[in-house]
Amino acid sequence: MALMAEELGEISACVTKGKSKQDLAEESADLLILLMGTAISAEFDLNEAFWQKMEKINKRKSKMVNGKIRVSEFKGIDKN
Ligand SMILES: [Mg+2]
Repeated sequence: MALMAEELGEISACVTKGKSKQDLAEESADLLILLMGTAISAEFDLNEAFWQKMEKINKRKSKMVNGKIRVSEFKGIDKN
């Protein structure tokens, strides 16, 4: 988990410090490698988990938030 947090920090630094797209891609790949390692060591199918989650997301209602489309679960904050 600490390694994933570290990689996330490096991704954040790429964005906040205006680093190159290549740097951002490399740090994103580092995080993906750690996620894949987690799936292997915990013995779950990351590909299957990904598509199950995409199916859930695709069923959510979209909503405009600050001019952007969001599909987050709006539990308890949706006043409509
Ligand atoms: Mg890295």
